[in-house]
Amino acid sequence: MGVYAPGAEASRLVFFGLFALQHRGQESAGIAASDGHSITIHASMGLVNQSFRESDFTHLRGDLAIGHTRYSTTGTSQQCNAQPLLVNGQHGRLALAHNGNVINSPQLKRQLQDQWDCVFNSTTDSEVIAHLLANAPGQTWEERMFSCMRTLEGAFSLVALTPYGLIAARDLLGIRPLCLGKLNDGWVIASESCALEHLGATYMREVEPGEVLVIENGSLRSAVHTSGGRRRALCVFELIYFARPDSIMDGGQIHSVRQALGAQLAREHPVDADLVIGVPDSSTAAAVGYSRQSGIPYSEGLVKNRYVGRTFIEPNQRLRDLGVRQKFNPLPDVISGQRLVVVDDSIVRGTTTPHVVSLLRRAGAKEVHLRVCAPPIRHPCYMGVDMATRKELIAANKTEEEIRQFIGADTLGYLSVEGLMQVVGGRQKGFCDACFTGNYPVPIQLEWDKLALEEPEE
Ligand code: SF4
Repeated sequence: MGVYAPGAEASRLVFFGLFALQHRGQESAGIAASDGHSITIHASMGLVNQSFRESDFTHLRGDLAIGHTRYSTTGTSQQCNAQPLLVNGQHGRLALAHNGNVINSPQLKRQLQDQWDCVFNSTTDSEVIAHLLANAPGQTWEERMFSCMRTLEGAFSLVALTPYGLIAARDLLGIRPLCLGKLNDGWVIASESCALEHLGATYMREVEPGEVLVIENGSLRSAVHTSGGRRRALCVFELIYFARPDSIMDGGQIHSVRQALGAQLAREHPVDADLVIGVPDSSTAAAVGYSRQSGIPYSEGLVKNRYVGRTFIEPNQRLRDLGVRQKFNPLPDVISGQRLVVVDDSIVRGTTTPHVVSLLRRAGAKEVHLRVCAPPIRHPCYMGVDMATRKELIAANKTEEEIRQFIGADTLGYLSVEGLMQVVGGRQKGFCDACFTGNYPVPIQLEWDKLALEEPEE
């Protein structure tokens, strides 16, 4: 996120905003601030509340700041990859915070090293964008960012900080979200509108695909690339799982979209049962939607330990397994003797779901009918969600019947791609649904390697 707050310490506002964006990344957190002359930066491994001490803010001065919570899609989970990243280029110093994944970053990195002698201190694609922007041709930041848009392939929503201004941009297809809000005489830009709410800022609108916003000398300018939004491809998985339910995205509240998806799931996969429960938290709205549509009562049936992170975005399998065991507890008083419809938002690797089903059976569930509020995930994401490799994706390797047996459910029903698109209005608006269909919005030549920018060990 980025904040321009005249007369205030922008870094403190970013700090509070980052709490609202914690669900988007839990590996590291950082803030860069500018007082109009120089940029200072603090980034560290861990959650937002672990990454900052009060004394850190004495250096993060000024009315301009950007911040980031990291969830790695390129490069390992280590301090050097914590964002914002600071680079030095033809146009001076620049700090950058990025969400997304740039597919051609290995080639661009080589070009930047050869052409500009750029020195890389991280193994992320985000640093490639930062160097590219800091050396891009053009008189204005709009021109320089447009030049980057022509070169970068993949997904990027970003904020960048110069000593005297703030830049925000979204890729030509608008794959990852970004929105704009007003805060008194200033502005806030964030991946999700829930971060604006935390600051008391007013949601204005989404940043358009291909749009560049520049805040300099107290005013905000906007320019949209001529190719911006011709074809749109907002990640539909943001609506299903990733975004917070209180965020507004694509013109609607995520919570309402998830309820509508749950209702569609009930129409597609009805079942004779006593109770609907959701796998908390991201499936709760869909479970309520399923219950309303089917007329089967809804109840909480699993309690989530809120202090365990999202297992799906933990960086490795061992941590994911440990996370699942600590994550849920069933409510036997509610579940015992019941024929349950269990609504889950998605099945990625299928490692969490068997544990959930067996927990419910041990708590006395008579039947477990699993309903998944997303189509089967058969293709990896190369655009900013580190789901898994094709080998790890359960639906890429097993039939639906094999998956049902593997997870131990009595029946299994996935939402169809058609049903999903009907609810979100996708065929008209244009969404990315590549992890379900394999139709990538950008050309994918090779299996993307998350560690493509790591230096080989000597
Ligand atoms: S492939 Fe799936 S997760 Fe990735 S951007 Fe597309 S819809 Fe989102």
